[in-house]
Amino acid sequence: MTDILPGDPRYAALVEGYNHRFTGRPDHVRQVRTTAEVAAAVREAVDSGRRVAVRSGGHCFEDFFANPEIQMLIDLAPMSAVSYDAHRRAIMVEAGITLGALYPILYDTWGVTIPGGTCFEVGVGGHITGGGYGHLSRRDGLVVDHLYAVEVVVVDESGTVDVVVATREPDDPHHELWWATAGGGGGSFGVVTRFWLRSPGVDSDDPSRLLPTAPRRIRRCDVLWSWDGMTEDALTRLIANYCGWLERHSAVDAPETQLWSNLIVMHRSAGIVALTAVIDDAVEGAARMLDDQLAAIGDGTGLTPRSVDRNVVDWMASWMPSYSWPSDPKGRYKNKAGYLRRGYTDKQLATIFRYLADPEYANPAAGIVLTAFGGQVNAVPSGATAAAQRDSVVKASYSAGAWQSPDDDAVNTAWVRAFYRDVYAESGGVPVSGDVSDGSYISYPDVDLADPEWNTSGVPWHTLYFKDNYPRLQRVKRRYDPRDIFRHGLSVRLPD
Ligand SMILES: Cc1cc2nc3c(=O)[nH]c(=O)nc-3n(C[C@H](O)[C@H](O)[C@H](O)COP(=O)(O)OP(=O)(O)OC[C@H]3O[C@@H](n4cnc5c(N)ncnc54)[C@H](O)[C@@H]3O)c2cc1C
Repeated sequence: MTDILPGDPRYAALVEGYNHRFTGRPDHVRQVRTTAEVAAAVREAVDSGRRVAVRSGGHCFEDFFANPEIQMLIDLAPMSAVSYDAHRRAIMVEAGITLGALYPILYDTWGVTIPGGTCFEVGVGGHITGGGYGHLSRRDGLVVDHLYAVEVVVVDESGTVDVVVATREPDDPHHELWWATAGGGGGSFGVVTRFWLRSPGVDSDDPSRLLPTAPRRIRRCDVLWSWDGMTEDALTRLIANYCGWLERHSAVDAPETQLWSNLIVMHRSAGIVALTAVIDDAVEGAARMLDDQLAAIGDGTGLTPRSVDRNVVDWMASWMPSYSWPSDPKGRYKNKAGYLRRGYTDKQLATIFRYLADPEYANPAAGIVLTAFGGQVNAVPSGATAAAQRDSVVKASYSAGAWQSPDDDAVNTAWVRAFYRDVYAESGGVPVSGDVSDGSYISYPDVDLADPEWNTSGVPWHTLYFKDNYPRLQRVKRRYDPRDIFRHGLSVRLPD
């Protein structure tokens, strides 16, 4: 256990995360190495009446651990062990490890992986509790679909700190805590110290069979289109074609769910639109599937890509680090998100073009990212875990990216807020569940959804994130965090 105080050279980096718009000022940062140390830190915070929060990888979009009201920050980064637990027949992962450290261990030791994100600096603590998805999710579902158990430090009504292990076994007395931790978002119920991973239906004591097999070689196709000469018709057709392909090829058992892709449509000032599509090279017809998708995306646009690169590369050594998402340059961000059950309406596409081509705004790190979703994610019922959105085909993120100076906050946040509001103009400025949209992703948190200035839909923020699962999450909150010790801008609220 180490206490890092203001003035210590390590303090500044710990109280500020990925998003430099937010900086905390806790009395100290408590670095912990064991569950007992986490419990002791929480006990100390509760006994002294100080507000406490936890960070794992520090990649939160909002200020949930970097809020000036937080007085004690628990840093889980030193808790990064991974091992096979023969008793639970599951792979145990401590919550402070980053994805970039976890993937090589899973791969080198057992040849397995989890369908998580590709930003290597993201921490498992925030990632898994939020649901967790990545380029294998269409094939393998969400990370929480492989979550067997969690160990959580909780605080009861009397202020007593306890350590609870909750599993997905239906007769586990703490089953509800497992359920809530599987997608209900970090920072709402307690401090998760350990996760145990084992795919559902697997009955083996061989750790190499407990989780999805990792690809060995990946076939990738990287395409760039230029904004030079880009017309509204061409760009909107390109986006509609991309979403249309995903609408047609994301059924649970569709062969194309082996393929994952990201369409990144940057603001005109960046000059490019980029597609990355990947598929395990061992899949039959892998090359054809990539070509078919690319042909479908370009159909009728009249666009000729500036470049098309097709490669087969080693999955772990080459693809994973190459697609480790931009943590650099570190800077200030505003991100927003929404699920798509089908492609955007024509009106929404026109709005998207208007903002991305906006000549009054220039930020080459601003744009939208349309990530392929669906497939095995949609094989799981909405109420089976707290991750409720189980029939979408695209995850959309709207982002004003890394700028450095606080002086530029107003222009960038105003742009992305107006962009999002106008895309969802027909549903009160937010992605209300309907034919096209299905709310948003709690791991891409956006406090504007709880702000009546930006959400005029009448649909509360928690319905947008958790749908019908919210009342059940509130019951878990009342049972495991009745004093609301763990809270932030979008934490589950105690029921009335
Ligand atoms: C560049 C970038 C790329 C991303 N890519 C993806 C992606 O591909 N797929 C995807 O699903 N998500 C992605 N995300 C979102 C990411 O999963 C979330 O931001 C996640 O919450 C980060 O986890 P963390 O531990 O790094 O964050 P932190 O900032 O440390 O924590 C986030 C929240 O979780 C809480 N928390 C952290 N650890 C614990 C714990 N042990 N117990 C209880 N609560 C905890 C914190 O208090 C905070 O409220 C990305 C984010 C970024 C910034």
